Amino acid sequence: MSPTIPMQARRLQRDPVYTENTRFQVYTERQFDQIAALKRLPEELRFAMRVVANVLPFRVNQYVIDELIDWERVPEDPLFQLTFPQQGMLETADFARMADALRRGLERTELRAIAREIQAGLNPHPAGQQEMNVPRLDGEPLPGIQHKYRETVLFFPSQGQVCHSYCTFCFRWAQFVGDKELRFAASEADSLHRYLKQDRAISDLLVTGGDPMVMKTKHLQAYLEPLLKPELEHVQTIRIGTKSMTFWPQRYVTDQDADELLRLFEKLVANGKHVALMAHFNHWREMETPVVREALRRVRDTGVVIRTQAPLIRHINDDPDVWSRMWRTQVSLGLVPYYMFVERDTGAKRYFEVPLARAHEVYQGAMQQVSGLGRTARGPSMSAGPGKVEIQGITEIQGEKVFVLRFIQARNPDWVQRPFFARFDPEATWLDDLKPAFGEKEFFFEREYRAMRGQSMKAR
Ligand SMILES: *Cc1c(COP(=O)(O)O)cnc(C)c1O
Repeated sequence: MSPTIPMQARRLQRDPVYTENTRFQVYTERQFDQIAALKRLPEELRFAMRVVANVLPFRVNQYVIDELIDWERVPEDPLFQLTFPQQGMLETADFARMADALRRGLERTELRAIAREIQAGLNPHPAGQQEMNVPRLDGEPLPGIQHKYRETVLFFPSQGQVCHSYCTFCFRWAQFVGDKELRFAASEADSLHRYLKQDRAISDLLVTGGDPMVMKTKHLQAYLEPLLKPELEHVQTIRIGTKSMTFWPQRYVTDQDADELLRLFEKLVANGKHVALMAHFNHWREMETPVVREALRRVRDTGVVIRTQAPLIRHINDDPDVWSRMWRTQVSLGLVPYYMFVERDTGAKRYFEVPLARAHEVYQGAMQQVSGLGRTARGPSMSAGPGKVEIQGITEIQGEKVFVLRFIQARNPDWVQRPFFARFDPEATWLDDLKPAFGEKEFFFEREYRAMRGQSMKAR
């Protein structure tokens, strides 16, 4: 292995403002009453939030409370909606049931049992994540690894299955509500490296969670440095999916092992890897604090590329102006817009969902307001069972109003970039709601996808 490239002095330098390691203070539903900022809210609203937090994951830290949320605008404030539970996130009957249980002062175990039942009705595992994507090595399934698209392997390191705060709309919410079986987890780097080694078609490793950036640098190092070995040369790109730039930018600036982390990034880049930090930003306001600016600067200085992605979410960013300002800000900071996602069909979907027709309108409206450098974001894209389906447009063909769709990623690479058409439906919010246009019985990929699903059921 080659020696560490010495960092230029300038890179190690921090803006003198950041002298101390800011203390990371976090609150979950059990510490609800300790969040000082909430005391100003009406008791009824606080109770409603506690009800929801007993079903859906809740976790927020002091930085988000102090620096991101505009408390003058609560409850509409988008950063408040991003992190704090709202009554509308549960169906009326589910809400009433948990509210009643809390008022009656039931034991924790009883509350948990009720929560489990409600959670089970919220489609905890969308897009066949657990059945179809877990690969095998020597006949054994590899937990903590998903391999859906030929080039890219997803890895869920066990120490990274939490976040600095939780997003209310998280599509992986089920792994944070306690049940061990629901978690993706990898106990060892070893099986990851063995799996990567035996498949030379894998060019990309995508480390995800939770948030891998909650990990200590030494853990990240154990997973990532071995990728520099000659037998893993075909793994050219290392992506790290993270919301830490929003929730804890101190990770890159003042945390005890922040400098060590930057050195790890530099080393990977210097030895030929493309390292991409896939930063999740929902709103331009997440990029306004001095500490996040410093974090972005420091990471970019290591040669890591920062790409951005986010779902389109009602109550948070359902507005072309919010997206265009976000993309412009990102381009001006040297970040590359990558994906706009459609909110998945899971969890509090009813509260956050935006019809596909509206999603397209927001995307188009935002695109029209930015220069070409901001137009690198693809979308709106649905990460569905068969692949990532993008809504390309809405048009009329021979008298029929249709959605124009394409796969930007697919289980079968042959499906990629083939346009297909669905009957226009103003209320559709997900691929499952769509019907083929022009009187076709099914979409071109459906028969083959059914066969794939049958295969993977048998393998289990
Ligand atoms: C989006 C995604 C990827 C990465 O796909 P790209 O087209 O390379 O961005 C890989 N695996 C899964 C499961 C995904 O959803």
